[in-house]
Amino acid sequence: MKILIINAGSSSLKYQFMDSDTGDVYAKGLCERIGIDGRLTHKVPGRENVCRDIPMPTHNEAITAVLEVMLDPVTGVISSTDEIDAVGHRVLHGGAEFSESCVITDECIAAIERCIPFGPLHNPANLMGIRACMEAMPGKKQVAVFDTAFHMTMPPRAYIYAIPYEYYEKDGVRRYGFHGTSHRYIAGQALRALGRENNPEGTKVISCHLGNGSSLAAIVDGKVIDTSMGLGPLAGFPMGTRSGDVDPTILEYLMGIYGWDIKTMLNVLNKKSGVLGISGVSSDFRDLTAAAESGNERAALALEKFAYEVKKYIGSYAAAMGGVDAIVFTAGVGENDAAMRMRIASGLEYMGVKMDAERNATRGVEEISAEDSKVKVFVIPTNEELMIAMDTAELCK
Ligand code: ADP
Repeated sequence: MKILIINAGSSSLKYQFMDSDTGDVYAKGLCERIGIDGRLTHKVPGRENVCRDIPMPTHNEAITAVLEVMLDPVTGVISSTDEIDAVGHRVLHGGAEFSESCVITDECIAAIERCIPFGPLHNPANLMGIRACMEAMPGKKQVAVFDTAFHMTMPPRAYIYAIPYEYYEKDGVRRYGFHGTSHRYIAGQALRALGRENNPEGTKVISCHLGNGSSLAAIVDGKVIDTSMGLGPLAGFPMGTRSGDVDPTILEYLMGIYGWDIKTMLNVLNKKSGVLGISGVSSDFRDLTAAAESGNERAALALEKFAYEVKKYIGSYAAAMGGVDAIVFTAGVGENDAAMRMRIASGLEYMGVKMDAERNATRGVEEISAEDSKVKVFVIPTNEELMIAMDTAELCK
């Protein structure tokens, strides 16, 4: 089936039009500066990119612009919206309401609305994308695919926070986890790479999604038993600009010194922390590597801190699972930064991880551990869009 995938943010909207059977991408692009002015970038494989300034006061105009550029005789890839079989939406937070993707109905929309307190920036934007598609293509089948859903198999000991239980019962405070669609894709690919896709019982995999936002998932029998992000995506280890877990005392201390309200404090932790905060240079690992190589000590410290914290999570998940068969690196940093992978995986020889430096340094090689490594280490490019397309096709056929 031909599926249009929408990932709507508060001022942006990414789209991809793909074949759910083959994974072929017919077109993809991005609407930016929605609510400000509006710019569309449209890419079709083998053709020159299209870049246009189009007024986009709301997501409705953005979707209209996407459909227009897809229908245009010169830039387009379809002659009628009938060629779009269904639309799949990436939705950030499904709370405990969704352990799977779902066809969008009034009930589903109401549930996404109920989860807005957990994803106050993303869920409303996701809903704007959904409603814009409903308006532009009335009656078209739509599916919501949740970032949290794959983590719903976690046992209570992993998802409960050690705060008064009533806040879990009454208010839904618990670990939810994110990047679930990516971790699900990686879980499936890891089983394939281990030759265990038909026999997942007993497999133990650590999926390392290391991008701008990053999280790890511990996956037993193909199901998540723990993950590093929490109620929100600020939790876990340091990321591009997010702090990861911090001692809450820091909040009280800094808010007291600088007179910040909680919004300002959280803005610091979300946007100005992580490897950017430590280095003062950049959130991009390429910039950090270049800076560290030219002697910037804080950039070097940021990279060291990142590797150290990821390594600690790997160790803790190996302990939680009672061993590990495979560690998989994915997303921008995981797929591209060989030096960072080496840093993370070195020193884990005691638990059976033996890297092959040459394989690790070679682009496109999947298995980067040594032939005799007890624990396999893989680099597998993630494909969240394909998962969304496949779920959408499955639920709409
Ligand atoms: P997002 O979370 O925005 O989806 P990505 O998974 O695309 O992020 O990862 C983006 C990050 O990947 C960039 O910030 C950059 O640090 C890192 N990255 C991309 N390419 C490279 C590379 N060749 N070497 C090191 N880091 C890279």
